[in-house]
Amino acid sequence: MKNTPIEYLEERKKQIQQAGTQGAAIDCEKQSLAGAVSQRACVFCGSRVVLYPVVDALHLVHGPIGCAAYTWDIRGALSSGPQLHRMSFSTDLGEMDIIQGGEKKLYKSLVELIDQYHPKAAFIYSTCVVGVIGDDVESVCAKVKREKGIPVIAVHSEGFKGTKKDGYKAACDALYSLVGTLPVDDIPSLSVNILGDFNIAGETWIIKKYYERMGIKVVSTITGDGRVEDIMKAHGASLNIVQCSGSMTWLAKKMESTYGIPYIRASYFGIEDTSKALYDVADFFNDQEVISRTKELVYEEVNNILPKIQQYREALRGKKAAIYVGGAFKAFSLIKSLRTLNMETAVVGSQTGNKEDYEVLKAMCNKDTIIVDDANTLELARFILEKDVDLFIGGVKERPIAYKLGVGFCDHNHERKIALAGFEGMLNFSREVFQTVTSPVWKFVPRREAKEVPL
Ligand code: SF4
Repeated sequence: MKNTPIEYLEERKKQIQQAGTQGAAIDCEKQSLAGAVSQRACVFCGSRVVLYPVVDALHLVHGPIGCAAYTWDIRGALSSGPQLHRMSFSTDLGEMDIIQGGEKKLYKSLVELIDQYHPKAAFIYSTCVVGVIGDDVESVCAKVKREKGIPVIAVHSEGFKGTKKDGYKAACDALYSLVGTLPVDDIPSLSVNILGDFNIAGETWIIKKYYERMGIKVVSTITGDGRVEDIMKAHGASLNIVQCSGSMTWLAKKMESTYGIPYIRASYFGIEDTSKALYDVADFFNDQEVISRTKELVYEEVNNILPKIQQYREALRGKKAAIYVGGAFKAFSLIKSLRTLNMETAVVGSQTGNKEDYEVLKAMCNKDTIIVDDANTLELARFILEKDVDLFIGGVKERPIAYKLGVGFCDHNHERKIALAGFEGMLNFSREVFQTVTSPVWKFVPRREAKEVPL
């Protein structure tokens, strides 16, 4: 298989490159090619995944039932209290609603749900059909807000109107409408908001604990295990720490321009990036006690996990991986984490990366590594066979590709049930990669003999 040429649609050519080659920057941040069956989700899904972990809010999907089913409780975002976020309410628009308009049904559903569940706020997601029939969702939200006395926020997330990234922006606009609406007198200056961590398998709790050990107060977690009232007070923090930059930079920038809160980017995946994130925050505050507590924390945690991952590093030496994730920033950390495990990245791609992200990836990766924007199933399958990888890191939509090809798989998306962030997350990641790559089951799958992509 090694000499098989990489195949893809001609129109997709500019979105695929190899590290070590010269030429124009990769084409990205554009709508998916019609008919290419992109792995990327729609605008509605982008907004839904960002807002989903606000656990004491009502999430009402205004549209046909299919949109709601698509995002119903498939995420591993945990709550330390309310579980309301796990319900996927829908106005269930049918043919007659589409002909006559869905505003009355939306109003009725909202009133009924708020009376039954007493949420702290309500997010109303517009889907494709709502954009087509032109329901005035804003005015219904304003009416219910007046009547019920809670924030009722329209999320402008009609699926067809852009890319998943536009959904992130719609979610940020919705969150921004909450920020700054409660007093913040009791917040100390050593304080932060954690943005872009979604508490998958309790990861926000791990990160929050690190900051607390450093002596820093976490005002709000947006949105992992998020609470409406905390978000309303988020403007009281001194710093925004943005992890999933693709989804949350928009909100951080808006908070910077309105409230003067600076932001920094961070990643909590891998030893290197977790340590850097904590040191960057300590440096920002320039407080000697915080700095020395941070050094102690990193020293203790790194010394704890290094001996534990040694056996995995030895077993995984020289193995190859393919990565396909939502945001490119996570891919940077994964490449470094794989290097920690003595592994090489042979394919890397993202759904929403920008030109700068892809330039960083090209610079980070070994020569000939395939770099791809907005891939589809067939491309990924072909790249995996071409590069003969041992591991595929992706999300729920990538899992079947790996298993059909007889390749080990690590879920690094929001559906997973194992925490992969922080130092303990790196230990979990190492163990999971080791177990899947070295599983004896692959002996029964003819991956290396495959002549065609078995789809
Ligand atoms: S919003 Fe549109 S594209 Fe998204 S799931 Fe619903 S129908 Fe599909």
